[in-house]
Amino acid sequence: EELYRVKRWGAGYFEIGENGNLKITPSQNNESLRIDFKSVIDEIRAEGIQFPVVVRFHDILRAQVAKLNQVFRDTISAAEYQGNYMGVYPVKVNQMREVVEEVVDAGEPFQFGLEAGSKAELLTVMAYNTNPGALTILNGYKDEEFMRLAFMGLLMGRRIIIVVEKFSELYTIAKLAKELGISPEIGLRAKMSVKGRGKWAGSAGDRAKFGLSTSELVAAVKYLKDEGLDERLKLLHFHIGSQLTDIRAIKDAITEGARIYAELRHLGANLEFVDVGGGLGIDYDGSASTNESSRNYSIKEYVGDIVYGMQEICDAEEVPHPNLVSESGRALTAHHSCVVTEVVSEIKPQGSQAIHTSDPDEHFIVSNMRELSENLEKYPNSQEVYNDAGDWKEQALNAFKLGVLNLEQLATVETLYWQIMQVIQTRLEKDEFVPEELKEIELQMASQYLGNFSVFQSAADTWAIDQILPVVPITRMNEKPTITCSIADITCDSDGKIDNFIGEDGISPTIKMHPLKPNEHYYVGLFLTGAYQDVMGDMHNLFGRLNEVHIFSYDDDPEDFYIEEIVRGSSVEHVLNIMQYHPKSMAQDVKRVIDKKIADGELKPRDGVKLIDFYEACLEGYTYLKTTS
Ligand code: PLP
Repeated sequence: EELYRVKRWGAGYFEIGENGNLKITPSQNNESLRIDFKSVIDEIRAEGIQFPVVVRFHDILRAQVAKLNQVFRDTISAAEYQGNYMGVYPVKVNQMREVVEEVVDAGEPFQFGLEAGSKAELLTVMAYNTNPGALTILNGYKDEEFMRLAFMGLLMGRRIIIVVEKFSELYTIAKLAKELGISPEIGLRAKMSVKGRGKWAGSAGDRAKFGLSTSELVAAVKYLKDEGLDERLKLLHFHIGSQLTDIRAIKDAITEGARIYAELRHLGANLEFVDVGGGLGIDYDGSASTNESSRNYSIKEYVGDIVYGMQEICDAEEVPHPNLVSESGRALTAHHSCVVTEVVSEIKPQGSQAIHTSDPDEHFIVSNMRELSENLEKYPNSQEVYNDAGDWKEQALNAFKLGVLNLEQLATVETLYWQIMQVIQTRLEKDEFVPEELKEIELQMASQYLGNFSVFQSAADTWAIDQILPVVPITRMNEKPTITCSIADITCDSDGKIDNFIGEDGISPTIKMHPLKPNEHYYVGLFLTGAYQDVMGDMHNLFGRLNEVHIFSYDDDPEDFYIEEIVRGSSVEHVLNIMQYHPKSMAQDVKRVIDKKIADGELKPRDGVKLIDFYEACLEGYTYLKTTS
């Protein structure tokens, strides 16, 4: 439990069962629910679905939507705050239709709405934001077509608020309002001086990409008055970054935002909403700290700081409490999905061992290394052994380059070297004090577990910005894991690896896993991938989207579940089409070549036909390795 910190990042949804398997409690309404992840995997296999697989627990998504809304409602009521909470889900965090549908459905009792940041997202949101009275918030840069769509949404009866990200967008709104005789509600995004900390802190400050400066905010109020649109100005928006790690930044942002709101009201703006943007963080590494992959607060504290912070300043400034909007995406979606991959092999740094019988005329570099390896008990000082062995290995390599040692002799030296390192490592495990340099040995000796997946498709942020995602074996967690390893993916790219893990004391380049057993599948899960990772991946090496299963639980049977839907991942054909190939004509070209071989008598017709069928079957197949036997 401590090693993988499951309970800590699991947020009540994940824990380790007594049988060592990962367990899921997907519904907060029924805490006795305990689905065994191993049985989910067995079911996936029984359905003949190939790994890697994205597993979505829709109950978790629903539970998170309900939780956020309920905490806002409870806090507002306890504080006797005068406004309501009318949150929106920013679809960019995970635009998958099933996710959006589920959020809308779970948000129905709360008038929960959607946020769009691009034309394609707006087209989606116009069709899917069906909760009566719920808001549709439009962020991002907008051209006239985008704005026209917003006006159309208005005619459809959607409650659309266009948030102005740059001043000139006001001109387009005014122009269309004149032309069409109606206007959506208008929001202004403020460029904040408070900056979040962490990986996504670029959303605030003078150089921020979005928002109006204070002078532009003042000018915007005046402009809308001049255009007769001041009654449509309804919302103040700010967003200081995603994954805010430190609650102090949130408090500061609320103070600054509330002050701007109050001042705009004093200027005559009839604002009804303050939209605090996203930023509600996730404890990816389970440390509950201000680490970049964590956060030092809970949802309750986050909401409390927004509600009470806003109330305090509004009361002091004698302005009405605005309705509150937030655009939490990460916090709603991260937990609900994970990627399950099978470890297909172990890559050891020492590779396989070369045969090295002793030879009386052997070169002194080889015999020195052999002497060291055979008499290690005479050398209790591990540092000295480490230095000498490293020295001989380097000399051997130089000698090989000069043609003094042959390949077999070099292989012998390297084999002996790794054997020595193995002995030192075993020794160090017992030592209380390990010199800094020798700590490197563990890293040098670490294996790589080859997972059947692509980091670029399934965990883009671990590659792009060293984000930590929990990596956990699905089974055997009641066994001591003895293999120190990092995770490599199957792309032909050395960056295709995960080497940032939750460690016993902080972040570690390696993780402990269990030794692979012949004829036994070893599945590893990559968790908290529901936000961004699910949708940001690319097709590096033409590895496409993953097969997906959607799991629902039965409320009346605590251990049962069902696969509600299977979404097939990309076929090879599909990814080739995206790259402008014509798989059908490729198959014909291949057939022509094979037919010619048959005609020339080089291939038997039966074998030729089989080859053509095989090529076509591979085109229709999954892009990942076939591991399910
Ligand atoms: N709103 C805006 C304007 C954003 O830019 C973002 C993401 O950065 C979000 C909402 C979602 O933020 P989060 O995923 O931190 O909730």
